[in-house]
Amino acid sequence: MTTACGLACRHCRACAQLEPGADELSTDEGRALIDELARVGRPRPILILTGGDCLKRSDIIELVAHAEQVGVPVAVAPSVTPALTDAVLGSLRRHGVKTASLSLDGATAATHDAIRGISGHFDATLAAIGQLHRHGFVVQVNTTVMGPNQDELADMAILIETLGVAIWEVFFLISTGRGVDVQETTAAENEDICEFLTDASCYGFTVRTVEAPFFRRIVAARRGGGRPRGGALYRRLSERLRDGLGEPTAPMRVPSAATRDGKGIIFVASTGDVYPSGFMPLRLGNVRDGGLLELYRQHPLLQSIRAAEFSGPCGRCPHAQLCGGSRARALAATGNPLGSDPGCLVALEGDSRSERPLSVPAVVR
Ligand code: SF4
Repeated sequence: MTTACGLACRHCRACAQLEPGADELSTDEGRALIDELARVGRPRPILILTGGDCLKRSDIIELVAHAEQVGVPVAVAPSVTPALTDAVLGSLRRHGVKTASLSLDGATAATHDAIRGISGHFDATLAAIGQLHRHGFVVQVNTTVMGPNQDELADMAILIETLGVAIWEVFFLISTGRGVDVQETTAAENEDICEFLTDASCYGFTVRTVEAPFFRRIVAARRGGGRPRGGALYRRLSERLRDGLGEPTAPMRVPSAATRDGKGIIFVASTGDVYPSGFMPLRLGNVRDGGLLELYRQHPLLQSIRAAEFSGPCGRCPHAQLCGGSRARALAATGNPLGSDPGCLVALEGDSRSERPLSVPAVVR
């Protein structure tokens, strides 16, 4: 929606700033984009309005009302700032917005506030979660996992359960935007964290991951009767989870759709530039120059991503269709959007000799 935001988080993908960027899509261009999404038909694509802070767009209610009129479901991901008022939340609900997500990056004020760069933001976020509940939203919490907060994940899960949050979406950091200065988790840590998240999904809330599609490999193994294969980090998190919440109370709640960057996901920046995902700075085109759907369906890179035409370990992996690796991390690490995801232990343990940095194919420049 915009790169404008009142916050300046350490890992921001959008490098958000206080004022809107130049050349953001106009209200009419936003409406036209929504009309195009409406032409997809069923199953309907879900439009997620993010930023920056999507509430910094003064036409947000107008656009949401238009989406409701043409039958496009909308979710919002606002920032927790004074702009998150009862009036705007009430309007969003009246225009059919069901799900709202907020970011919470630590189980303590010290961790979250340090990452968000604002003292008191942790308490404000907890209050905002209550506010969303009062307005009847399905509440999603987004957490970016990184070096500084990985040991707090069990306490985060306990907090999520206590707050009655419906969906916990865990982002695995990619070195992009401001995130280049923040410590990514290693492949071994990711394996432990995914095992832990599988356990955490057994307490009544849904767990999803972003830029960690190998979570589905781990979930499939557990569903097949496999035992958790995590190491010390997993054991610590798992024990803390049971200390806090007791024995699991519900069946595993994890999504099964095999989406990944460019497959079931497409990102349109505030300027109309189109990318396979928000963490993959490979511009595919611009919605001002032609249709988004045409681009999504026909772009050679997206077709290769959907056909799982990967090189290296991801290309040879039996889980390539189910998982396929984070294309964004493959790009960031190897320069090749079809390379292997070094955030996955299986990929790392595979033969990495073919994973030399490649130049970006001309077709996606
Ligand atoms: S090697 Fe690649 S495709 Fe296989 S599980 Fe790991 S990330 Fe997924």
